[in-house]
Amino acid sequence: MKTHVKALVVGGGAVGTSIAYHLARAGWDDVMLLERDELTSGSTWHAAGLLPYFNMSYATTHIHDYSIKFYKTLEAETGLNAGFSVVGNLRMAQSQARMDEYMVYATTAETCDVPYEWLSTAQIKDRYPLLRTKDLVGAIYHPTDGYINPADVTMAMAKGARQRGVMIERKWQADAFHWTGDHWDVTCTKMVEKGGNLVPSDEQIVIHAEHVVTATGNHPQRTAKLLGLKIPAIPVEHQFIVTEPDPALVAWRKENGEHPVLRDADAKWYVREERGGWILGPYERNAPARFEYGVPDSFRADLFPLDLERIEEEYMSMIHRIPSSETVGLKDDFNGPICYTPDGNPLVGPAPGLRNMWLAEGFSFGITAAGGTGYYMAQLMVEGEAEIDMASLDPKRFGSWMTTEYAARKNEEAYEHVYILHHPDEERPACRPLRMAPAYERQKALGAQFGCVNGWERPNYYGPLDAPETFDHDARSFRRGGWWQYAVEEAKAIREGVGLIDATAFTKHVVKGPGATQFLDWFTCNKLPKVGRINLTYALTEHGTTRTEYTIVRLGEDEYYLVSAGAWTAYDSDFLRKAAQDKAPEFGYIEIQDVTTQWGVFAIAGPKARDVLNEIVKDADPSTVLGNKRFPWLTCRDIELGMCPVRAIRVAYTGELGWELHHPIEMQAYLWDQLMAAGAKHDMKLVGARAQNWLRQEKSYRAFGNELGRDATPLEADLPRFIDLTKEFQGKAALEQTGVRSKCCTLLIDGPADADPWGREALYEDDTRVGRLTSGGYSVAFGKSIGMAYVTPELAVPGTKLKVKMFDQLWDAVVVEDSPYDPKNEVIRIDG
Ligand SMILES: Cc1cc2nc3c(=O)[nH]c(=O)nc-3n(C[C@H](O)[C@H](O)[C@H](O)COP(=O)(O)OP(=O)(O)OC[C@H]3O[C@@H](n4cnc5c(N)ncnc54)[C@H](O)[C@@H]3O)c2cc1C
Repeated sequence: MKTHVKALVVGGGAVGTSIAYHLARAGWDDVMLLERDELTSGSTWHAAGLLPYFNMSYATTHIHDYSIKFYKTLEAETGLNAGFSVVGNLRMAQSQARMDEYMVYATTAETCDVPYEWLSTAQIKDRYPLLRTKDLVGAIYHPTDGYINPADVTMAMAKGARQRGVMIERKWQADAFHWTGDHWDVTCTKMVEKGGNLVPSDEQIVIHAEHVVTATGNHPQRTAKLLGLKIPAIPVEHQFIVTEPDPALVAWRKENGEHPVLRDADAKWYVREERGGWILGPYERNAPARFEYGVPDSFRADLFPLDLERIEEEYMSMIHRIPSSETVGLKDDFNGPICYTPDGNPLVGPAPGLRNMWLAEGFSFGITAAGGTGYYMAQLMVEGEAEIDMASLDPKRFGSWMTTEYAARKNEEAYEHVYILHHPDEERPACRPLRMAPAYERQKALGAQFGCVNGWERPNYYGPLDAPETFDHDARSFRRGGWWQYAVEEAKAIREGVGLIDATAFTKHVVKGPGATQFLDWFTCNKLPKVGRINLTYALTEHGTTRTEYTIVRLGEDEYYLVSAGAWTAYDSDFLRKAAQDKAPEFGYIEIQDVTTQWGVFAIAGPKARDVLNEIVKDADPSTVLGNKRFPWLTCRDIELGMCPVRAIRVAYTGELGWELHHPIEMQAYLWDQLMAAGAKHDMKLVGARAQNWLRQEKSYRAFGNELGRDATPLEADLPRFIDLTKEFQGKAALEQTGVRSKCCTLLIDGPADADPWGREALYEDDTRVGRLTSGGYSVAFGKSIGMAYVTPELAVPGTKLKVKMFDQLWDAVVVEDSPYDPKNEVIRIDG
């Protein structure tokens, strides 16, 4: 057995096998796959094998799309038939809201070239007479997906991998990982059979691996412990049952083809044919998390006992939908562990804090995702980046504040929510409130309806004071929800008067020390600000695309305060720390502190913002302290608001006269009361994140995770004014080489009277798809929908007429100049 390898993949399920295959296909020699038992002996062996396209995320849709296409090629490559039944997939709707969900999904699917068809109730009945359709509204049908045999597809990938030189070693368990400084020493133990159990023997070896990938299925807690990490992947029980042959189905099949995989989303189940009978897979309530602290040694390729009572409701609804299934008996059942994460997406990418350690954990649709995960993970490892932005799957999207209890309860929720209506304005309730800034209770008493950002409670909007508990839930919609009017009033308040926004969730880092200036100059692409000033800047990937957006405040010659998006604290921290560690020998000592939880942030904005602050600012000359002379736009000053010391930054993400008030978190409640009292004299309104998101689009301010990400350069984001090409910086050569493949622009949209785009819609010029929206919302300044988009560069010019696909129709849109509201930034600079 070889002991020096380029990459060691730990785990021989569908995911690990696909990663090993794709690493070899991407050109890496010396790839080894290690499996403690037999290939497919984890969750892969008992999966139902469904390969659904349907997914509300752009990145995951690409991953599923790759898998579906790739699996179809495996037989030609390996000679092994993976048992792919391309029967299609019929997703039925019992309500118009569900059809709206499918239409919101469908426009995103178009941006990924996923084919689909609409079926009316009559067409469903006509094609599939065994189904009861009276209570249906319609369905979306995918003709090109279906189901596969999970073990066979894994074995086919394993054969393909071996053909490409991958070494597959079974009955070896990775038991310890040690980073030597340039490679991993992985201690592996030979596993042996003893009385039906799998137990470690005395035989051990150490494998030297340049890179390690963990794809350990139901064992992420053990893996986490070995690596000294937190990995919020914990399995939940998932059952499916197999019925005896259904005579009506058997008779029908004599003349007809197989039914597509059926999904009655409102009833929370999938059904497919299996040897004349049916497989029913429910996503029921109260499925418990398992193995929170690791898989017991006694659990091998085992199953849990069936809990029929738990799935009774879904069982009855299958009988309702397929009446002939009522009289058939049960033949078989499966209740196995299915791994989840708090947001339901897997963890794919570099492990936090470690070098050359890659995680591929927490897969709940691992058969569907394995092919694409292998492909994009291999790109990340071999080329440094993938074609698509993998940030939404990055393991570091969860912070170290997360506990086992949190992960377990959230994962149960993610499981139960698989078939809920996936409203884009959804906020999930489990484990909340947890991370609360001191003003939380005050905001709540004033009607705040909160969203959750990286665990933080952040007001989305302020609803009625006496709102029932269910107000926000009931306000959700695929169109303009019940919250919409509140956000409109809030946005108007900022444009016309003054508003106060809680931005405490922002990520904040201090970078200082003798190497700090040289380091940041190399790390970011814009000029560094002078002391007391701020700059907007970008840290790029090796591929010249945007890794992180920062507002940099220069506090001193060698001390900087970096503000970045609130959802990405651990992601940004890891990137900064690793880069600083690499560059310290060249530039000198660089200290990085994550000060996110030490500073609260309120953003005050609007023509009357200065008047409110003037009420409480303390200064030898209060009449000038906030004026343009002493406090110009894009500067930072330490001021005092009452007794609260405030690091005030003159910027406003809403594009109005305004300040961000960074303050010691322990003084937040005091500062809030001061601002509220001062604001009352000027009709100040409390404003949430939804209105802010609309307002920033009127200014064409790009948002991280929407317009800014690892699939586009800042030149493609059309931000040349923030790039200093006269200096050297990380990613510069690639940025210049890449050119502009597509370009960011802002659109005003004449959409439906009751809906705005969400920022995931397909864009057309005549009948040709030319791009996609990355943000969407409503503009109070223009009285219509607004969006930001990526389109082919020649179309990204003001005046270009395009169409936006919303609710299965094309709506007129026009590209407008950047910052259609106040293009010359006059109101931001207003003196007083
Ligand atoms: C009842 C049920 C039905 C399902 N149906 C579907 C479906 O229809 N479609 C779908 O896409 N998904 C489905 N899933 C989910 C799917 O089974 C999983 O997402 C998928 O199998 C995960 O694959 P994996 O490779 O990540 O993990 P696994 O298949 O669990 O593989 C992990 C492997 O790692 C090995 N391992 C762990 N630790 C070590 C170590 N330290 N050293 C060496 N080896 C190690 C384990 O032995 C195991 O073989 C279903 C799951 C269940 C429970």
